[in-house]
Amino acid sequence: MELIIHPNKFLETVCNETANPITDLESTKEMLHIMLKTRGIGISAPQVGLLKRIIVVGTKCHKDWATLMFNPEILNTGKSKEIETERCLSFPGMEKELERWVITEVKYQDVTGEWQTETLKRLKARVFQHELDHLNGIACMLKEEV
Ligand SMILES: [Zn+2]
Repeated sequence: MELIIHPNKFLETVCNETANPITDLESTKEMLHIMLKTRGIGISAPQVGLLKRIIVVGTKCHKDWATLMFNPEILNTGKSKEIETERCLSFPGMEKELERWVITEVKYQDVTGEWQTETLKRLKARVFQHELDHLNGIACMLKEEV
């Protein structure tokens, strides 16, 4: 399994396949490994050539802390958005100012298959929205800058 770099069709393809937290766990751990190795704070399955609904969300502050999320969805958002600079492992050297929800209420299946609901804020919410875009075939670095 290797990190996919733009241009590549996986970065612009919608992932329609539901993930299975149990049988997809090994590939998800590999995604996490690639994310940590490349010092990323998030990664999505299509970035390693897997068209399944799986993302890993980490944070800058806790280097080896990350959440493996299967079939993630946004349930709700707060009212405000903010603009910050984003980067993407699949677009080395690029950055873009993008507008995102500050707070998102999300749900996903954890590694045991249990559904979790969580309220994400700031950086974690931003990473979640970035990775969810990947699952929907949206490469953020190709989006119009705000
Ligand atoms: Zn990305």
